[in-house]
Amino acid sequence: MPDRHHCLALDADDPLRAFRDEFVLPEGVVYLVGNSLGALPRRTAERVRRTVEDEWGKELVGGWNTAGWYDQPLRAGDRIAPLIGVGPGQVVAGNTTSIAIFQALAAALRLRPDRRVIVSEVHNFPTDHYIVQGLAGLLGGYEVRDLAERRFDDAAVVLLSEVDYRTGARQDVPAVTAEAHAAGALIVWDLCHSAGVMEVDVSEADFAVGCTYKYLNAGPGAPAFLYVNPRHHATAENVLSGWFAHAEPFAFEEGFRPAEGIRRFAVSTPHVVSFAALEAALDIWERVPMAQVRAKSMALTSLFVELVGDALELASPADPQARGSQVSFRHPDGYPVMRALIDRGVHGDFRAPDILRFGFAPLYTSYTDVHDAAATLLEVLGEELWRQEKYARRLSVT
Ligand SMILES: *Cc1c(COP(=O)(O)O)cnc(C)c1O
Repeated sequence: MPDRHHCLALDADDPLRAFRDEFVLPEGVVYLVGNSLGALPRRTAERVRRTVEDEWGKELVGGWNTAGWYDQPLRAGDRIAPLIGVGPGQVVAGNTTSIAIFQALAAALRLRPDRRVIVSEVHNFPTDHYIVQGLAGLLGGYEVRDLAERRFDDAAVVLLSEVDYRTGARQDVPAVTAEAHAAGALIVWDLCHSAGVMEVDVSEADFAVGCTYKYLNAGPGAPAFLYVNPRHHATAENVLSGWFAHAEPFAFEEGFRPAEGIRRFAVSTPHVVSFAALEAALDIWERVPMAQVRAKSMALTSLFVELVGDALELASPADPQARGSQVSFRHPDGYPVMRALIDRGVHGDFRAPDILRFGFAPLYTSYTDVHDAAATLLEVLGEELWRQEKYARRLSVT
């Protein structure tokens, strides 16, 4: 069993170890929730201050031109593109993942007007499936089918998350994509739990979406991203045809005329201050070798699984290749167990009904963190510290 000394040696040898200093990590906290909200990069506060005080404060409305606010969605999109394996002009940032899912699905349905089936995952992160239901309800006449049926013959579009948010299981995205395409369906990938923790090559997808506030560390409420395969740029329609998707937003024409290329998937005024935080995060990502991130991610999750051993039932795949960068365990009293753990400085989260989730962010999670988290978890379980009354009451955000 690797002890703390061994983990310190692993940290000393870690090729990514310098990145940890680029984040603000509170003293005495082991933060294993980077899969929900990434940690704060050290340079973000200054970058946001600059946007607020120097750009907004001094340039006022001129900031749209002088500070480059107008181009933020495409500029950030071009910087996200290499993280998902593609080049410039294919990704637009802005809005939220839910909105990007809506745009991608609606565009896909319009590209397959003769088909009336949307394939979705019933057990996906709820917003994905809720958006499917909302869109199907709006349009009328669509069947929503669970991906588990693996039936694509009459499907217009398939919505697939690369990594399951609950168990961390990694799906066989290339296989599902090939099956969907062979059947004539289009496919939308959700990369919320894969962008920033593994190498992604999105070029086989028709559309892809993801958020930047999880492993990409762009902050609460940060802009999402939407990839549209260039083969659809001329024909795909953005049903959220806001003025930023217009060929000439400042011509103030009465009729909608879509912009060329990925810009037609922009919607409207970008969240300028949030984009400043995203740009600060992307300054780090430019220097990150993603193959090393994936290697360390698998090593971290494997170490945690080994250290926790059979003290808890593993809900994630045992094979590190088959999971994302998280480890989940089942416990019937998972909620008070997690509260007791957080009270002792180890932050994971709880997902109903019985899942304890731990996310590992290779840029700032150390092997020693993993050791300390496992030791605290074993203590909370072994001494039944979670049985204390105060841990039973539910907070509104779990
Ligand atoms: C985190 C996450 C989202 C988030 O959606 P928002 O619109 O940003 O609230 C969507 N889908 C998946 C799979 C996620 O993990």
